[in-house]
Amino acid sequence: MPQLLEQDDKGIYCAVADVYIDPWKPVKKAFVTHAHADHARPGSAQYVCVDASREIIKHRLEATNVDSLPFGKPITVNGVKFSFHPAGHIIGSAQIRVEHKGEVWVVSGDYKTENDQLSGGFEPLRCHTFISECTFGLPVFNWQPQETVFNEINKWWNTNKEDGKVSFISAYSLGKAQRVISGLDGTIGPIYCHNAVENINEIARAEGFEIQDTMRLNIEMDKKSLTGGLIVAPPGFMNSNYISRMKNVDLASASGWMNLRGARRRRAVDRGFVLSDHADWNGLLSAISATEASKILVTHGYVNVFSKYLQELGYDAQILQTEYEGDEVEQEVVADEGV
Ligand SMILES: [Zn+2]
Ligand SMILES: [Zn+2]
Repeated sequence: MPQLLEQDDKGIYCAVADVYIDPWKPVKKAFVTHAHADHARPGSAQYVCVDASREIIKHRLEATNVDSLPFGKPITVNGVKFSFHPAGHIIGSAQIRVEHKGEVWVVSGDYKTENDQLSGGFEPLRCHTFISECTFGLPVFNWQPQETVFNEINKWWNTNKEDGKVSFISAYSLGKAQRVISGLDGTIGPIYCHNAVENINEIARAEGFEIQDTMRLNIEMDKKSLTGGLIVAPPGFMNSNYISRMKNVDLASASGWMNLRGARRRRAVDRGFVLSDHADWNGLLSAISATEASKILVTHGYVNVFSKYLQELGYDAQILQTEYEGDEVEQEVVADEGV
């Protein structure tokens, strides 16, 4: 008897419905948890996602074959009931619940348990089997409340302004950037966004998300006019000629990886703010416990340490080998810190 969801060379597959979830190769029908590049890949004949993600997925995949549903509304395919539920990771991110003949599986996609007011609060879903990410599945990862982090960021920005500097904060363009912007105190100065960030801001605003006013960064701008302002751009832009030739700029990164010793130095930034769109160690454990699932399949992240720890807690925990790569941020290599 095949399992309700299985994994093959294309992705996580529901054979009864002939549906893939976040496939890494083109398929006939792809249900997609969110628009990050490792979960929403091009080439499939049909995509189904949640309403809040539709325009962003269309934009990123340059696709028109994208259908969507509201959160919580089920769609039945060959007797299998699928529904999307908030994952709290980024704008439009969803968990996918799959039910067939009384058996329930949930695919988490990426998730975060702290509510950032943009991504929808993570919804705990009861299920028999939970497929969980564990990007930050080591006990060393413990996030501060976001208010604390945003206070630090705004203080840093204000100090730079007083010193006659430009502030630069690297954040990946979909998700982290909008979260950073939502925590910025816009009374300090203007917020400039790299094209990749501003394109997403515009789509999100058109979809009704409240993102405060920002300006599109134009590299023709007189750099002096940026003094006191703050630039939000993807990590790669930090090495551009435009930024590396800029005088009086203070560089920062907002990432969960900043929690690791040496990460700030390796990224060559002046400041590291620990701000992640993923659950930390305790967030993962509380989310898993809330599902009341006995079987846990773990994907991307510290799968070895994390699955072993879950086994010690009494779960039937296994590793699911997927091709998810992490959110367009470079993964940092660290020695397993043990549990
Ligand atoms: Zn992911
Ligand atoms: Zn993601």
